[in-house]
Amino acid sequence: MATVRFKAIEEVLKRKPIHVDLPAVKTSRYFGENVFDKQKMQEYLSKEAYDNVLEAIDKGVKIERQYANQVASGMKAWAIDRGATHYTHWFHPLTGATAEKHDAFFEPADNGGIIENFQGEMLVQQESDASSFPSGGLRNTFEARGYTAWDPSSPAFVYGRTLCIPTIFVSYTGEALDYKTPLIKSLNYIDNAATEVCKYFDKSISKVNVTLGWEQEYFLIDDAFYNARPDLYLTGRTLIGHPSPKDQQLNDHYFGSLTDRVKHFMRDFEIEAYRLGIPAKTRHNEVAPNQFECAPRFEEANLSVDHNQILMTLMEKVAKRHNFRVLFHEKPFAGINGSGKHNNWSLLTDTGKNLLSPGKTPKNNFQFITFFINVIKAVYEHADLLRASIAFTGNDYRLGAHEAPPSIISVFIGRKLTQMLNELEQRIDNTKMTPEEKGELKLDIGKIPEILLDNTDRNRTSPFAFTGNRFEFRAVGSSANIASPIIVLNTIVADQLNAFKEEVDQLISSEKIKKDEAIFRVLKQYIIESREIRFEGDGYSQEWVEEAARRGLTNIKSIPGSLEAFLSPKTIEVFRKNNILNERELEARQGIQLEHFTKRMQIEARVLGDLAMNHIIPTAIKYQNTMLENIKDLREIYPEEQYKVMTHHQLDTVEKIARHVNTIREKVVDMVNTRKKANQIENEKEKAYAYHEQVVPFFSEIRNHIDKLERIVDDETWPFPKYREMLFTR
Ligand code: ADP
Ligand code: MG
Repeated sequence: MATVRFKAIEEVLKRKPIHVDLPAVKTSRYFGENVFDKQKMQEYLSKEAYDNVLEAIDKGVKIERQYANQVASGMKAWAIDRGATHYTHWFHPLTGATAEKHDAFFEPADNGGIIENFQGEMLVQQESDASSFPSGGLRNTFEARGYTAWDPSSPAFVYGRTLCIPTIFVSYTGEALDYKTPLIKSLNYIDNAATEVCKYFDKSISKVNVTLGWEQEYFLIDDAFYNARPDLYLTGRTLIGHPSPKDQQLNDHYFGSLTDRVKHFMRDFEIEAYRLGIPAKTRHNEVAPNQFECAPRFEEANLSVDHNQILMTLMEKVAKRHNFRVLFHEKPFAGINGSGKHNNWSLLTDTGKNLLSPGKTPKNNFQFITFFINVIKAVYEHADLLRASIAFTGNDYRLGAHEAPPSIISVFIGRKLTQMLNELEQRIDNTKMTPEEKGELKLDIGKIPEILLDNTDRNRTSPFAFTGNRFEFRAVGSSANIASPIIVLNTIVADQLNAFKEEVDQLISSEKIKKDEAIFRVLKQYIIESREIRFEGDGYSQEWVEEAARRGLTNIKSIPGSLEAFLSPKTIEVFRKNNILNERELEARQGIQLEHFTKRMQIEARVLGDLAMNHIIPTAIKYQNTMLENIKDLREIYPEEQYKVMTHHQLDTVEKIARHVNTIREKVVDMVNTRKKANQIENEKEKAYAYHEQVVPFFSEIRNHIDKLERIVDDETWPFPKYREMLFTR
């Protein structure tokens, strides 16, 4: 009897690459062709309507009613020209995925025919029958009243036959039910705060944008294997599986070339990405077998977040054409690397200056060091909140495991900048500086070289590293909606910059000192206060875990534990004060994530129980029976002495199987009972803690015994594709 597993292997061995030819024209000819960008708006809109939209994009003003209709019909005309038949408001609900509800453009007309209809109101605002989206109690489900509204700062696009209009999603009482709303607020907030600080150095700066470049890691698994593993298709990760004898120890995947099948898949989704204006740039193998990365050129953060969400959806769809499944789960396979999504973050002025890039002049560098130190201080002050912003169910299997940063937030800045900060700290004192001293200090700051970090001074183990002209937040999970960490980063840095400005102005007026000197003094104080968050050593080492504890840095390993920071007084204050999220909204966000965690663990527990009881144990017992029959047969034929020698190992195996089977049974029963008790708990937070502390530990215990059985039982009868097959059969 051929098991599903062997059928899958056969199928995979027969696969051929699905060839995708590059379009006959240059990339620039079709890049962005499915995006309603400024150029197309100019073509399809009146001058007045176009100007109104531009103002909405640049200054956040509302689109006026009279223009909304024009914009809508222009957008519709363009979309229909591109073959669209439906439109949808496209938004980022708090589940982490994106949501769409499609409506057809056409409507029955009075004369019995149909007309293509799409009014301004439908563009600007739409009631959303969204009762099944999580709201953390913000919107009672029986009301089901939320609305979506166009966010003109990210352009509409056509995907397939649907016009997708990026929107925010809020309840009728005004609370945000999505990621985009607070993201946009945080972007405005950091724009204002950073622009104010820039004025100390350069009065011509009037706007600061956040730039964001992400690096998306993922695994590819053949469709046939995926469908033969209920754990993969129900939970996104393998719950059982003995490690392959060879996995990533030779590092040969990282340096290896892409197979044709994979190359054609990548080309296919890249072409589609280009049509949607996503500047996909690098692609390469990652360390683990079948693990890859895709990174676009950085963009303005709101657009960059949208593009990441679009690309993830795109990749999943395109993968199916190539008989692949994309795994965005952070830890799909035990024992080998998981997947993350580095977030490269920086600030760019409207004069074209990257504020986290050292410049050519002392003044530029003074500005650089100011922003640089303020970011470090912000991370120090709100490390736990940053940790909370990346707490997703899958990510916690990754953090602190194999080649991933631990749950301790620290900042790496490199040798030269560490030296620089140490020197600044030494040389600035709080007595009045002479003009010579000041001049000298500035001159030295001016000597920070333009190219800061060479590759030898790159620390790959830091969760938050300065990489020459940007900070790279590396603890973010591969499946995350990156708006979550970016909202936090923007908000805490903006708040820090405001505090900085206040302190400097205060010093100028109270001490009667010049601006530069006041800035120096405040920076010195920040360097000292935030020293403990800086770490240059190996972030993956046990010594760091101990050292961090001595420094008083937190190392929060559980989801419920890390989510506590969403409601700490400090967090509530920083979000409330700046009108990014109020306490109710924060509470809702925490509640949604806790519930999400519990539900996902519930599913994992059920799937594991099923695999164990209905697949693994029957398989093991069948094998045990075969062996027992063999033992009985031998007894009939051979004399006592010889029989004993011959069956010694087989009897031992029969007993081993019995022990594993018994333990698995006991543990599964225990797990189910523990889960049932946990389910009784009303309070969402306590329930999540109960799951984390009492239910989750069963997973690895049960798995352990199953993985041992995998090594005992006849390969012919093992029901699920093994690690070595999923990772190496091609
Ligand atoms: P790595 O050495 O980490 O592989 P790359 O130079 O390829 O790095 O860049 C990684 C990511 O960092 C890319 O997405 C890139 O666009 C982004 N990046 C580079 N400069 C900036 C910046 N100023 N702001 C934001 N992201 C940036
Ligand atoms: Mg990187």
